[in-house]
Amino acid sequence: MSFDTLGLSAEILRAISEQGYTDPTPVQAQAIPAVLLGGDLLAGAQTGTGKTAGFTLPLLQRLSGPPAPKGRRPVRALILTPTRELAAQVAESVSTYGNYLPLRSAVIFGGVKIGPQINKLRSGVDILIATPGRLLDHVQQGTLDLSQVEILVLDEADRMLDMGFLRDIRKILALLPKGRQNLLFSATFSNEIKRLADGLLNKPALIEVACRNTASERVAQVVHPVDRERKRELLSYLIGNGDWQQVLVFTRTKHGANRLTKQLEQDGISAAAIHGNKSQAARTRALADFKKGSIRVLVATDIAARGLDIDQLPHVVNFELPNVPEDYVHRIGRTGRAGNEGEAMSLVCVDEHKLLRDIERLLKREIPKDVIDGFSPDPGIKAEPIPNGRNGAGRGRSGGGQRNRAGARGAGGAGRGQGGGRRRSAVPA
Ligand code: AMP
Repeated sequence: MSFDTLGLSAEILRAISEQGYTDPTPVQAQAIPAVLLGGDLLAGAQTGTGKTAGFTLPLLQRLSGPPAPKGRRPVRALILTPTRELAAQVAESVSTYGNYLPLRSAVIFGGVKIGPQINKLRSGVDILIATPGRLLDHVQQGTLDLSQVEILVLDEADRMLDMGFLRDIRKILALLPKGRQNLLFSATFSNEIKRLADGLLNKPALIEVACRNTASERVAQVVHPVDRERKRELLSYLIGNGDWQQVLVFTRTKHGANRLTKQLEQDGISAAAIHGNKSQAARTRALADFKKGSIRVLVATDIAARGLDIDQLPHVVNFELPNVPEDYVHRIGRTGRAGNEGEAMSLVCVDEHKLLRDIERLLKREIPKDVIDGFSPDPGIKAEPIPNGRNGAGRGRSGGGQRNRAGARGAGGAGRGQGGGRRRSAVPA
């Protein structure tokens, strides 16, 4: 498909071709026609997909009717971004793609003098790109009128919420006229984003392009509460009962991985462990055997699993919860890949309740609990500290996290994108 067929004007096509772009990216191919129709849009796309042009190009097209009359020009399009850097980047795209159009744009964000921004706004701006805080400063000072906005874009909406901008966004929405077009872009879809979208968007067109961070949305997750000493028994039961042929199991430690592997073998389930103490040759062999189906269970530590290229695993089991909540997201991202359904289950004993709460806080939702018949936890068993002092009590959580990350980097295996996880970890507890 080429850009020519999407309904964009010659001026815009010229600017696109000057950038050297020949074909629209998937998000552009879907978003551009949808936005040109004038309706609302909910798009799941992260940085790197070409999303900026995906909303900028049709927005420019919609605003580029007959030239505005001389004199005061109202702001007709408002693009909100979470950060100054993103605001600056988007502004750059707007001026690049709008190079041959008689439209004016401005970018406003905090940390710089407000005076020049006021002057720019006074001179008349069609498209305004802004971060929420400084935008509201201008509104308060009476230097900005948003009553004529026709198109609103929320870019990286998930990040805006993570950064605590929900109240500001709500205040801004209240300043906009009702009859407008709304475009919401987000890399992830937490319940909070869904709520925001429900309140904001009117029968939106839906677009989703492949996105690394949505594993936690696609994967069916469940917690099986169980006693500490009965986890292995439960795991063998689940594997046998479900007739699972390929299971990736995570343990917290190398020693735990070795021990579990031996125990599974004793139960007649073929298994192999991979972790940092295994030679590369042993790891490669274990992985090859697992992929071709000659072993059913691969037991791995987080660090060893980082570089693993195994697609479309049907089952991932957290034999023990990770110390760092983000590792949970990476672990379950091993299943349900490439659009396939996956199942991730966690065997959680009384010692791990705080780790579970931390994970649920990161996911911003509860994971369903399902007690397996015959494995109900004994309420008389008391929580014990998790060995290595990394049970999340007090300093433990962040200390463990730092060690874990440093280890991952040291092993050279942290190749997968961690952006979403790290960002979300900034959510206040
Ligand atoms: P974004 O996801 O908007 O941050 O864009 C990611 C990168 O893709 C940017 O460097 C854009 O310049 C580039 N880009 C956007 N659209 C296209 C396209 N149709 N063809 C090639 N590169 C593109």
